[in-house]
Amino acid sequence: MGDILETLKRYRAEGSRLVGCFPLYGPLELFHSFGLTPVVLWGLGDGRGYYPASDAHVQGYACSVARALTGFVIEHGTALFDALFMYNACDTLRNLPEILSRALDSRGGHIPMFRLHLPAIPLDRAHAARYLEERLRGLVKALEEFTGRSFSGDAFMASATLYERRRSLCRGVMDLRARGGIPSARAARIIELGNHVEVAEHIAGLEEVVGSCSGLPGDARGVRVMAGGIQAPPLELLDAMDSSNLVTVADDFATMARTHLASVSPRPDPHSYYTELYLHHPPCSTLLPSADARLGHLVSRAKASGARGFILFGEKFCEYEYFEAPQLLAAMEREGVRTLFLEIAPEDRENLAQHVTRIEAFAEMLQDGSTGG
Ligand code: SF4
Repeated sequence: MGDILETLKRYRAEGSRLVGCFPLYGPLELFHSFGLTPVVLWGLGDGRGYYPASDAHVQGYACSVARALTGFVIEHGTALFDALFMYNACDTLRNLPEILSRALDSRGGHIPMFRLHLPAIPLDRAHAARYLEERLRGLVKALEEFTGRSFSGDAFMASATLYERRRSLCRGVMDLRARGGIPSARAARIIELGNHVEVAEHIAGLEEVVGSCSGLPGDARGVRVMAGGIQAPPLELLDAMDSSNLVTVADDFATMARTHLASVSPRPDPHSYYTELYLHHPPCSTLLPSADARLGHLVSRAKASGARGFILFGEKFCEYEYFEAPQLLAAMEREGVRTLFLEIAPEDRENLAQHVTRIEAFAEMLQDGSTGG
């Protein structure tokens, strides 16, 4: 957490105008094209230090993502952010803008808030794309007023080009990981860094990793597995996968594959760009209309990647993922993909050994080809 805070403070000191965004798939390119620096308030690591500030406003049985970002914004938001942004997602986040506004008010602070309402029905249904276009027009107008700049198609095209470059490099890191050319823990660290660092800085880091690892001989002789969850688990658990000879050939982490598998060609028109981006976005429980497609999508990705096992790192109290988990795990098992479910909460960080043991046992089971549970 210290690193994230220090990074954002540095940007602020350098004159950046920061927009704190949540959940994961906001129109970052649009903010960037107006000269703003969007950062995604997700994957804040062990955010327990921020729980006391959050606990007066968000129930203790909410997920760690919501609790950490609430506390982070209450404690540091006024000093760091020029604005916040949120689109409609899960019930836990739904009223967070109002909760944050009240909490900041009570401390004598205020941060302007941008909102975007994504259609609650799939974008290929009648009127959904037009509804999104109207909402985007409203956001563009609000940004013009906020920044004193007019929207520029050229600037949007340049920003969209940067973000597509970043997605492409992240896919490159995932490919390296699937070939055994980079450990899962290192891949997660470099990809998730992108939530909190400026896009050009992230691209430079990704280019360095891809450039230095591409020529190395991969070692994909381990057992092929897929892993997923709303965010990557603590690095100790990814290290345990690496040292147990598990090769992550595909992932479904919301901060990794769900964010970066989408590919949209840059263009000056944000309406068509975002319609295509959200229409073809990997299904995610935080993009409500896409949730129904998740099971089929994930099972076919597991099969196509040759994964023999699937590890679900469940975020404690994420009701969306937990409603889905029994069906997802059963669907994987029906297709012959063995499954392991681990519930992760920040409180478990001092007690990760039990999870490490289960990962090691799962790896042994897959290596033996046994059918034990
Ligand atoms: S989708 Fe789940 S983990 Fe994410 S904010 Fe909502 S409840 Fe929390």
